[in-house]
Amino acid sequence: MTSSTSDNANPKDFQSLPLKPALLKNLKDLGYAQLTEIQAAALPAMVAGKDVIGQAKTGSGKTVAFGLGLLQKLRAEQFRVQALVLCPTRELADQVARELRKLARAIHNIKILTLCGGMPFGPQIGSLKHGAHIVVGTPGRIEDHLRKGNLDLGSVETLVLDEADRMLDMGFQAVLDEILATLPKSRQTLLFSATYPKTIDALASRVLSNPVKVEVAAGH
Ligand code: ADP
Ligand code: MG
Repeated sequence: MTSSTSDNANPKDFQSLPLKPALLKNLKDLGYAQLTEIQAAALPAMVAGKDVIGQAKTGSGKTVAFGLGLLQKLRAEQFRVQALVLCPTRELADQVARELRKLARAIHNIKILTLCGGMPFGPQIGSLKHGAHIVVGTPGRIEDHLRKGNLDLGSVETLVLDEADRMLDMGFQAVLDEILATLPKSRQTLLFSATYPKTIDALASRVLSNPVKVEVAAGH
């Protein structure tokens, strides 16, 4: 594992990044000018296709970090599930989907589907029949759809484990393993977390391949 720690000395401008013109224009329209520390530290490795572990406190902009990483790769003209984002709760999944929809606005016709527990199955099954480019959801419901044959994750190229520490705290380890078994082995995996307990290391070593770890010290 390689390690890099960002310092606050070089705030970067989004427009200097090697991102799709549509994404750059959209970032400008959204009023995002400077990258946060975790974004500056994580984006180059993500865009280079590496597995990334990103650790930074809540509110540091981790969603935009992995959102840009996965949207940069996404091919709108290939209508199949290319990215899966797993979040611990419905509220967080909804927030992530909202942020991804904002970021994806400039890319024509990207479909983002949320699949969370506590919601009726019927409409989710209906939406799954129509397909999506990106699925965002909670582990339990995603696994439910996999088990019932409603969802095929065989074309996923990017897996994001968001708030991985909380997913482990909530006891999702076994469910995560079942979901992971259905994903292609050759994929990019991005793991984001506010804290980095030992249990994350064990998960990361099983799920990520030769990851780059980027961490932003608390208080920055
Ligand atoms: P985290 O996942 O690290 O807790 P979020 O991704 O939820 O943080 O981001 C927190 C807030 O910061 C969101 O409202 C988001 O829109 C905003 N944000 C993210 N990146 C930037 C940026 N580069 N410039 C300005 N605001 C940003
Ligand atoms: Mg977050």
